Amino acid sequence: MKKLVVAVAALSAMWAHADVYPSKSISIVVPFAAGGPTDRSARDLAEAMRKSLGGVTVLVDNAAGAGGSIGANKVAKAAPDGYTLLLHHIGMATMPTLVRNIPFKVESDFEYLGMVSDVPMTLIGRPSLPAKNFKELITWIGQNKGKINMGNAGVGSASHLCGLLFQNALQVDMTTVPYKGTGPAMTDLIGGQIDFMCDQTTNTSSHIEAKKVIGYAVTTAKPLTTPALKDLPTMQEAGLKGFEVTIWQGLYAPKGTPAEVVAKINAALKLALKDPDFIKKQEGLGAVVVSDKRVDPAEHKRFVAAEIAKWSPIVKAAGVYAD
Ligand code: ASP
Repeated sequence: MKKLVVAVAALSAMWAHADVYPSKSISIVVPFAAGGPTDRSARDLAEAMRKSLGGVTVLVDNAAGAGGSIGANKVAKAAPDGYTLLLHHIGMATMPTLVRNIPFKVESDFEYLGMVSDVPMTLIGRPSLPAKNFKELITWIGQNKGKINMGNAGVGSASHLCGLLFQNALQVDMTTVPYKGTGPAMTDLIGGQIDFMCDQTTNTSSHIEAKKVIGYAVTTAKPLTTPALKDLPTMQEAGLKGFEVTIWQGLYAPKGTPAEVVAKINAALKLALKDPDFIKKQEGLGAVVVSDKRVDPAEHKRFVAAEIAKWSPIVKAAGVYAD
């Protein structure tokens, strides 16, 4: 009898403990391969959130494929307990238009936990390309129509969107080569297996600086101040009128995650976004850590809805759907 009482007391102590979130490790699902920019941000964020959540282990789970939809779907269908989170980018807003059939609903299958960062993109080329700047690039593209290929992270990814907008602006079709993320695509670009790629500065700035790839332009409206990127023109300065894409990233949990857990994760995220180490690492790579009202879940949700409304007509007008 005494043994049973002790066992029940131990169990209820365990349950009481399990009620306190977080009581076990948390996974941040990255919907792209390891070694790319989303993965990089997630690893920096995991470390900052480990600290802001009181030392709990925060793991990164790369569930790559299908342009980001496999990982997003994994989180949409996960237990809504706060232990499986998703870090995803602009694809949350563009994928529903770019890709006609995705197995989850961006607006109703997730709890929004807050935005993380804004990240510019860059147009980069293999190091052996004879074109050394944007002007020469346009000439080279004109001379090599039908022979050019462009890597991306799959249909519906940010590199896919940016690449399609680039091809549409030039009215040139290129062969797209899909990867599970721009980490592995970068390896092939450096190796010369593919010609171009659009990718976040968090993956490109160090390679541009090391001259492993050629940087041609940035996709922001204004030039960047990051040392490796400050000499690159914007796409608009280079002549592509209205060309502007900034990749933003946000954190999500499955729909139905208890409000108090959402509040705890949001509080931990807000602390993480003020972590000087996190800010230094991300901003050193050209990203801007969010410090405005988009760190609040309701504002994050409003922002994504506004981005869906913004991008849907642009994607439709450019006719850049994936089939
Ligand atoms: N940059 C990628 C994209 O194009 C994803 C990644 O590998 O982080 O969406």
